[in-house]
Amino acid sequence: MIKIGTLTCLHSNNVCARVGCLKAFQNRSDFFDGYSPDTLLGAMMTCNGCKSVNPKEPDVDEEILEKIDRLVSEEIKVVHVGACRLDREKKECPRIAKICEMIESRGIQVVRGTHRES
Ligand code: SF4
Repeated sequence: MIKIGTLTCLHSNNVCARVGCLKAFQNRSDFFDGYSPDTLLGAMMTCNGCKSVNPKEPDVDEEILEKIDRLVSEEIKVVHVGACRLDREKKECPRIAKICEMIESRGIQVVRGTHRES
């Protein structure tokens, strides 16, 4: 059994009920293809917002660091990052990219994708 998690954009909370991510996980489809039936979705984290509302960069944001510590203590092995990491031009948000780097630096694999993007 392994534990995995998701990372999404805080703004996406306004319009997203995580249905696409959860459905793909339950069906082991799209980016969750190949996980064994006993895989546990053990964490669903967001960033802590854009610079305009949260001036702290992710690497000095104690609350982000606390969330990543929690991923480690929960033995989350892989974090899947939602399509909400991309802007309209399909460019990845630099803050979420930084968080991905921070997660990887703690020995957790990052996979960019949850469900297929239309
Ligand atoms: S920092 Fe990036 S991922 Fe976070 S709310 Fe802003 S746009 Fe979304």
